[in-house]
Amino acid sequence: MRTPFIAGNWKMNLNHNEAIKFIDDISYKFENKNNIRIAVCPPFTSLRSVILVLEDEMAKNPNMIIKTGAQNMYFEEKGAFTGEISPEMLKALGVEYVIIGHSERRELFEETDELINKKLKAAFKHELKPILCIGEPLKIREEGKAQEYTLGQLEKDLNDIPESELNNLTIAYEPIWAIGTGRTATPQDANEMCKAIRQKISKLYNDKCAQNLIIQYGGSVKPSNAKELMSMPDIDGALVGGASINVDDFLAIINY
Ligand code: PEP
Repeated sequence: MRTPFIAGNWKMNLNHNEAIKFIDDISYKFENKNNIRIAVCPPFTSLRSVILVLEDEMAKNPNMIIKTGAQNMYFEEKGAFTGEISPEMLKALGVEYVIIGHSERRELFEETDELINKKLKAAFKHELKPILCIGEPLKIREEGKAQEYTLGQLEKDLNDIPESELNNLTIAYEPIWAIGTGRTATPQDANEMCKAIRQKISKLYNDKCAQNLIIQYGGSVKPSNAKELMSMPDIDGALVGGASINVDDFLAIINY
């Protein structure tokens, strides 16, 4: 039985003051009717504030469990890498998850599968739990090559990653044409890809790993479509961008 997992990717939104207010507001209204796993992924500059306020709020309300994730990290441990953040730095802050290979990083910052593979290995080494994003651009979908492309990313990103790490991995299937566009994949299309990802994991590892793997869908998830997406058999949660920085929308998605 896979516990659904909903994570909010705040992207480059909410400075640390706004982040504190967000956590205050969500704590005040918090309900988790579906008993799911929840994480928020603020920008680096808001991580410490979010972790401290969450610690405080969760001590007051033991029913509230919200974990924290980073949106990126570098694979090296320390040194002359101006502007980068190491896995050890995230771990020391109390961060649990890290988004790796988001399409905005792949497209805008030219991250390759080779780099993403190094980041994944570094995350596992430091006991961070990566949320690996994969998914195709519109042109590839229109050419009918969406599965080939997305499963190709998966295979390259997981190169030489041992089976023992799979328990700590989440995959987010995020078709690029659905991110921040308001255009959502149909639940059937999203499920078809998530199922193909599971089958690929079964081939690369084994069926047990595949059956235990949490696969999120991401791409314009909002309160109005969350329930339908989440009811699909191979979709185990969502990576939510835009709607995750609105307290009411994020809570409505959690309580789909
Ligand atoms: C994302 O950033 O991972 C995402 C899915 O964004 P949005 O929900 O805004 O499409």
